[in-house]
Amino acid sequence: MIALKPDFCDIEPLEGHLLSTDDYASSEARWCSGCGAHTILHSVQKLCADEQLPPEKTVFVSGIGCSSRFPHYMKTYGFHGLHGRAFPVASGVKFRRPDLNVFVITGDGDCCSIGAGHWVHAIRYNMKMVVLLFDNSIYGLTKNQTSPTSPLGTVTNTHPTGSVLPPINPIQSTLGLANVSFVAQTVDWKLAHLEATLKKAFDHPGLAFVRIVQRCPIWMRDTYEPTVKDPNAITVLNHNEGIVLEDDALKKFRHVMEHDPSDIVKAREVAELVKTTTPIGLFYQNKNASRYDEYGAHNLGISVEDRIDAINSHMDKYAI
Ligand code: SF4
Repeated sequence: MIALKPDFCDIEPLEGHLLSTDDYASSEARWCSGCGAHTILHSVQKLCADEQLPPEKTVFVSGIGCSSRFPHYMKTYGFHGLHGRAFPVASGVKFRRPDLNVFVITGDGDCCSIGAGHWVHAIRYNMKMVVLLFDNSIYGLTKNQTSPTSPLGTVTNTHPTGSVLPPINPIQSTLGLANVSFVAQTVDWKLAHLEATLKKAFDHPGLAFVRIVQRCPIWMRDTYEPTVKDPNAITVLNHNEGIVLEDDALKKFRHVMEHDPSDIVKAREVAELVKTTTPIGLFYQNKNASRYDEYGAHNLGISVEDRIDAINSHMDKYAI
């Protein structure tokens, strides 16, 4: 596990200093050329700048996989953890430090396979954080093994004659979990939609789960390319309570479906459309779902400052 702490993090931001996207950029991203993760990184840095998130109050927690290198590329706090364990780490951070902006970066293997148990309970606990599932439908970092979201018949190192099980549908699965409060889907190559989705997720009062269909040109070109090239392949979910696009951006999509994100039954039906189209937009939102971070230690009258002092004094015991 690597906890990332940039040098400046003990420094209070200059008053009146307007943060730009460059203020959130750290080392150069080492993803492959054409990887969709680059676009997501820049969109997240733009969100941070638009919201003027203090870097010393912002944390990106990841597991293992290509996408999980993300915290290294953000000039904020970060935690590059164990495979599948981003959710419990992020939940711990949020529960003890509700003042922090918490993001979870996870991949389809990380979230939907080894981390699946944590995924279920993080959704149910519904602590305020943004979860970005970078779904490229493959284990890319370890070079081409079948993931839980690989389409049936995908030829990989583990299934040289094609994968044999139907894939998990992360949207449908999340919509089936207790206390779910926000489920959205977007794609990395539709920038306006991606950015609007991130903004909507950030504004959500609980856990915002966003699946991002992500291009992996090294292993999965044949899977995403038809969706990228075919203007009929995407259906945008439209509603004034959903992810609202400017008229010009909306006009670029041929297929628009009205969908009320307060209707979870309909949301589950729409999630089934993945067999014939790629629906993007806000499937479901409930701003009033119970939040675990509003209970327990936060209501015991212990201030954030006292909690930080207690953590520091405990950690000092292990200092050399
Ligand atoms: Fe991106 Fe695929 Fe390269 Fe991983 S292997 S960095 S997902 S293009």
